[in-house]
Amino acid sequence: MIVKLLSDLVSFKTVTPNGDAAIDYCAKFLEKIGFVCHKLNFGSVANLYAKYGTHNKNICFAGHVDVVPPLDGWNSDPFVLTERDGLLFGRGTNDMKGGLAAVLCAISAFLKKHTPDFSVSVMLTSDEEIMGKNGTSKIVQWIQERNEQITGCILCESCSTDATGEYIKIGCRGSLNVDFKSVGTQCHVVSSKKFVNHLHSFAKFISDFANTKLDDGNSNFSPSDIEMTSIDVANSVRNIIPANASAKFNIRFNDCWTFEKLEHFIKKQLPQNISVKFTRFGFPFIGSETYFTNFLAQSINKTLGTMPKIGTAGGNSDALSLHKLTNVVEIGTPIENAHIVNEYVSKTDLEKLYKIYFDILGSFSAYCAKHYSR
Ligand SMILES: [Zn+2]
Repeated sequence: MIVKLLSDLVSFKTVTPNGDAAIDYCAKFLEKIGFVCHKLNFGSVANLYAKYGTHNKNICFAGHVDVVPPLDGWNSDPFVLTERDGLLFGRGTNDMKGGLAAVLCAISAFLKKHTPDFSVSVMLTSDEEIMGKNGTSKIVQWIQERNEQITGCILCESCSTDATGEYIKIGCRGSLNVDFKSVGTQCHVVSSKKFVNHLHSFAKFISDFANTKLDDGNSNFSPSDIEMTSIDVANSVRNIIPANASAKFNIRFNDCWTFEKLEHFIKKQLPQNISVKFTRFGFPFIGSETYFTNFLAQSINKTLGTMPKIGTAGGNSDALSLHKLTNVVEIGTPIENAHIVNEYVSKTDLEKLYKIYFDILGSFSAYCAKHYSR
């Protein structure tokens, strides 16, 4: 059933942010098993909040149906699920239609066997891959306005470099884009002694900056990381020293820093002829209290026979919005297979995920009794 569901999901060409068809498909699937579905369109982006039951205790599974464009070089049609040696190829199989198929099957199987004393909800968006403005952040607002309670949330994302299910991502580092610009005087190469070649000092500056050690990290976060992403002088000839040079960096930073502190630290190092522009993305956060993380770790341990690692490595996701609402973690497939040409997920990994999500559902009532009875 998981493979059939994944095959259907992959067949929808949901290149971000065009998720309508897959959102409709999931809504139909969930309605059939007793969910009440709210299709939430913000701008042109289709989203879904679906809920089973009316209990206040509510476990939510979240995700997205959109995928990045397939681009060229595939060995099979990226929108036709194709099996080779136990691996299932197709755009989105890893990020994150595989996780979605596993969780929909787990919920369906669980509700066939049990009548839970808690609600189960599913939250889906179509614009995660473009850091959605009309996706999860808007659904979170909608949920807050309705005073809807969510006790805990599992984002079924591809999220770790460890094997499937062997990592719980409990938060994320912050992300700051840093653009440096060096301005000198355009001149002939033979006049450089007169005008001073600013490219030489700029090259040293950006090299030193790239090698700056920001911190040592801490128990939740790895050390902050500076990565150069571009150097540009836009010079197509050999006998000019150009007036402008620029370099771009991305910094993934931990909670030793805030945006303000980091920007101040960088500005202090600037030579006179170099300016800087910052673009802020997500801030660093921990999205889950230890008791929720531990509950999920136990479920994984029961299912896989191994305790998962717990950390904050990897990129930004919808957890950034969701943690304003409730405890949220990510449990899914390894991120190294996301966004690649010939993207795939293994059948074994889907089966593992299915079992983990099923066990989480089976253990949720006891978890609520333990933590929310007072
Ligand atoms: Zn994803």
